Amino acid sequence: SVTNSEIASETPLSLLKRVYGYDAFRGLQADVIADVMAGRDTLAVLPTGGGKSLCYQIPAILRDGVGLVVSPLIALMADQVDALKALGVRAERLDSSMAPEDKQAALEAARRGEMDMLYVSPEALGTGLAGVLARLGVSVIAIDEAHCVSQWGHDFRPDYRALSRLKQLFPGVPRIAVTATADERTRDDILHELDLTSPQVHVASFDRPNLTLGAEPKAGKRADRVASLVKAHSGESGIVYAATRDATETLAESLERAGLSALAYHAGLDPEVRAERQRRFLLEDGIVMCATVAFGMGVDKPDVRFVIHADPPKTLEAYWQEVGRAGRDGKPAEAFALFGPADMRRSISWTVESDAAEEVKRVQLTKTRQLFAFLNGTECRRGAVRRYFGEANVAPCGECDNCQREPGDGFDATRFAQMAVSAVIRCGQRIGRGRLIIHLTGSARDGFDEDLAQLSTYGIGMDLSKQGWNAVFDELLFSGLLAETGDAMRPVLAVPDQEAARALFKGNREVWLRTDPSQRKTAR
Ligand code: ADP
Ligand code: ZN
Repeated sequence: SVTNSEIASETPLSLLKRVYGYDAFRGLQADVIADVMAGRDTLAVLPTGGGKSLCYQIPAILRDGVGLVVSPLIALMADQVDALKALGVRAERLDSSMAPEDKQAALEAARRGEMDMLYVSPEALGTGLAGVLARLGVSVIAIDEAHCVSQWGHDFRPDYRALSRLKQLFPGVPRIAVTATADERTRDDILHELDLTSPQVHVASFDRPNLTLGAEPKAGKRADRVASLVKAHSGESGIVYAATRDATETLAESLERAGLSALAYHAGLDPEVRAERQRRFLLEDGIVMCATVAFGMGVDKPDVRFVIHADPPKTLEAYWQEVGRAGRDGKPAEAFALFGPADMRRSISWTVESDAAEEVKRVQLTKTRQLFAFLNGTECRRGAVRRYFGEANVAPCGECDNCQREPGDGFDATRFAQMAVSAVIRCGQRIGRGRLIIHLTGSARDGFDEDLAQLSTYGIGMDLSKQGWNAVFDELLFSGLLAETGDAMRPVLAVPDQEAARALFKGNREVWLRTDPSQRKTAR
């Protein structure tokens, strides 16, 4: 255990070596710790696995008084406390799941000054505990998973709102917020909601230089495409993410039929079956886990060589977390995602029909659009993700599918995009894709949509087939020039961003397709 005489001459680095047994700080750890040691409010944004816990644990141990750690997940809290105790650090936790006598014992230890760190859930802070702690002397306050305070984050927790009171409850005590979610809105929200004082903000690079990224629209039989992607990694371990339990089962079966070792994993399986499959994935080589997102949290396998999204992830944050499970050992790994307009529609209608607050829904819809714009986009993929997470001056990776594409590849469909968007506007932003295509191609039957047939955009798109127009509309939806609104089953097309539409009409914004849409024949 740590004694006071040892602490007197101890530095963050000597403590890192003595207590944790590590030789050096990683990345931004030393800078973050120096700021907290100097008593400054700090926000540290480090990727998952980047070593966020040490950023507050070391100051908590070194500074006089109890270090308070606010954490949202009781299970994670218990793990951290156990790990610290094993290292000889005097850590305890207080949360709603504990017996009253255990809570009492933890507080007694703090009162006697025999505690370095106390982990609490946000709601535990409400109940008179703050007063007790203030009397004991708090050395530093850490807010773990700080993005939970932001509605813009992907995991908003109303409990976290109460943390804005920490500043009044513990005046002058330095606070450090840590998170792996880095987009700028979330960062600003954290600083604002927690009311950090002249905060020092540290944002690590979110680059994963060993990951090669790719994505393509779903076409043909998905299981075959997945099998060919997996076969390119024969004998290697990987994860195939799918949106539904059924899909994980059918994908695993079809990979097995193709002679690969695959297992399904989802929350509907018996816990013993799940544990056994996870164990096999960790121990054996060359197993492909076909899983829902239930798989992955806390699975630390360094040599996962690929992550394939057979269905797209929920957001770019989720994407980066999921693909980040590949290549933990730093050796080359691949991430490939399949996506389609139906996925985007489904994701949007889930949000629209959920009973989240309007503000939360708006955020989620924006995130969905950003995700599909990224998947369907033509710029460097790694660059796009890093910019999304707030990095500036990012050079193209040179390796992703978009960087590898020949410059002349693709088809300039700006003219068709202009036609489609003007037709949407002319028709009053109140009809769906099917009727718009009839309108554009001038193929309305007698007596059908006669009022729309009078408009100037009627028939202006005759030289493109129905399939060609479908490709144009997909692109416009993915890129955010159009949006589907209204009834999820019968969506209507609208123009969500006037600014972007104006740029399109002025010729300041281009729309590119992978292939020439006029080559697509209407299947009859
Ligand atoms: P995060 O919370 O950012 O996901 P953790 O704090 O759990 O990451 O750290 C991830 C792993 O890296 C842990 O096993 C931790 O002990 C280890 N680690 C953290 N800092 C260092 C370091 N400076 N040197 C070596 N290992 C470290
Ligand atoms: Zn690239």
